[in-house]
Amino acid sequence: EETSEAHNPIAVAETGSQSDLLWDISLRARIDEAMEAGEIYCVYQPKIDLASKSIAGVEALVRWHDPARGFISPQHFIQQCEKAGRMEHLTRYVLQSACSAGQLLHFRGRVISMAVNISATLLGDMRIAGIVRNVLQATRFDPSYLTLEITETARISDHTVAASILEELRSLGVKISMDDFGVGAASFEAFYELPFDELKIDRLFVANMAKDPKARAIVSSIAAMGREARITVVAEGLENPQDIVLFEEAGCQQVQGFAFSRPLSLSDLLEYQDFTLNRPAANMV
Ligand code: C2E
Ligand code: MG
Ligand code: MG
Ligand code: MG
Repeated sequence: EETSEAHNPIAVAETGSQSDLLWDISLRARIDEAMEAGEIYCVYQPKIDLASKSIAGVEALVRWHDPARGFISPQHFIQQCEKAGRMEHLTRYVLQSACSAGQLLHFRGRVISMAVNISATLLGDMRIAGIVRNVLQATRFDPSYLTLEITETARISDHTVAASILEELRSLGVKISMDDFGVGAASFEAFYELPFDELKIDRLFVANMAKDPKARAIVSSIAAMGREARITVVAEGLENPQDIVLFEEAGCQQVQGFAFSRPLSLSDLLEYQDFTLNRPAANMV
């Protein structure tokens, strides 16, 4: 049974040995079966709107709990999934789970956004647009509440192709977010050339906001840039609740991190009463 995360699941971190290679090969072979068995599922981490101090939405984060090996880190199995040529399949599965969850939340009166991570490697052809369209139709989730967080933008090989795919996705009514902004090669180039509605400042700067003036300068500059470009700026990986005021002062619209909530199971999210911080839960259905 899935539970919300008291701690981040521990990754299988050993490297290099032959048994790891065999383990990775068996992981690749088991991906489809793990999805069917429910070993792969989503947890949901709130994104907090600073102006209203309420939950603007949640981000779906994929988990794999293997009965024999325990939690396998998403970074690791996503890499294996890519090697196995199963990224589209995993993405469809996550989108399907997340949009069904979003639809259920809306049905229960919690009308919030749902964000799904999309690997930049899927922006090489139009198939991803078809997948998103099909899932939206199947789940009947309102597209204007779906945000696609593009991860690893540095891996986009052709910005012209990616831009037309992102425009196709936006024409479905969904929003596009640039994940981990500021780290990795070509962040500004990708931001300049691709049509984003939201930008997430990487945890690297967010974590050091209080103690490092350089991090503060970077965060407020990115927030100012977002304002001018009329896009939402989210600070991700905020661990210290006392730092929230720094992000308000810097002009970020949203924050996300352990300071407010760890990723939650769908059932915990459905039971979550305090969708509006500092206010009675009475306005929640
Ligand atoms: P991300 O999209 O940048 O997600 C944020 C990661 O930071 C998540 O790790 C989350 O659990 C963690 N996090 C959130 N708040 C805090 C905090 O306050 N402190 C710290 N130290 N960490 C925090 P997670 O779930 O292990 O995911 C890692 C990455 O794997 C994600 O980074 C994303 O790039 C990728 N990922 C996760 N789910 C999916 C998915 O369904 N599809 C794809 N393509 N990638 C995914
Ligand atoms: Mg993300
Ligand atoms: Mg991120
Ligand atoms: Mg990150």
